[in-house]
Amino acid sequence: MRRTQVRDALVLRRSPLPSGDVVATLLSPTGTWRAIARKGRLPGGNLARLSLFHDVTVQFWRRHDDDLALITQVQLNGALAGLARPEAYPYAHLLAELADVLTVEQPVDERCYALVASGLRGLHAHADPEAVGLAYAWRLLALAGVAPDVRACAGCGGEPSHLWIPAGQARCAACAAGVGGDRDANEALFLGREGLAELDALVRGPLASAVHQPPVDRARHWRALRRFVRWHVGHVRALEALPC
Ligand SMILES: [Zn+2]
Repeated sequence: MRRTQVRDALVLRRSPLPSGDVVATLLSPTGTWRAIARKGRLPGGNLARLSLFHDVTVQFWRRHDDDLALITQVQLNGALAGLARPEAYPYAHLLAELADVLTVEQPVDERCYALVASGLRGLHAHADPEAVGLAYAWRLLALAGVAPDVRACAGCGGEPSHLWIPAGQARCAACAAGVGGDRDANEALFLGREGLAELDALVRGPLASAVHQPPVDRARHWRALRRFVRWHVGHVRALEALPC
């Protein structure tokens, strides 16, 4: 039985096969899924519409629930030309890859789709795409339930100075030194009181202020994000590739 369905989606990943077919990883409000588009089978050169970061509506069908969906039609709703800018492109990759790894085989919060769509629009339009990328990356982690809570030292409730990476918590210097002994000491990353306040704003403050008042020391925040993601999510190529 051929069951045709229609779904809105963002193209997170696109892998051309030697045959000329394209396998796309798509993010929809219901979650991440993969589909194949056969070369020459889509009317009107539709394969180009399945380009990276495109906002599309796809028509597809699959014979069985676990089959790869076969795309029969693609309608392009929006292509964000600003994402091709060299200063925006790496961050678009970062959001797409993070969204992909955070939603693979996970129940997906439907706000994830809206957040990625909003992040890509921000990267497309904003004069400071790096600030957009940093804020939205932390927001995606928060939505997936893996962002740290850094409002107080988790050990004593006092004023924190370190991000304690394994637990996703903040610690004061004394508590950071006392947890896990020397072996884990380098998992406590010094951000200082201001740095942790900035991190808190990125994770849970109003998104507009997180973008418009980015951290002062961005390199330090990118290092924090990279180490945090390595520990809690795994290897995210787009993040490792950033020059920070
Ligand atoms: Zn403490």
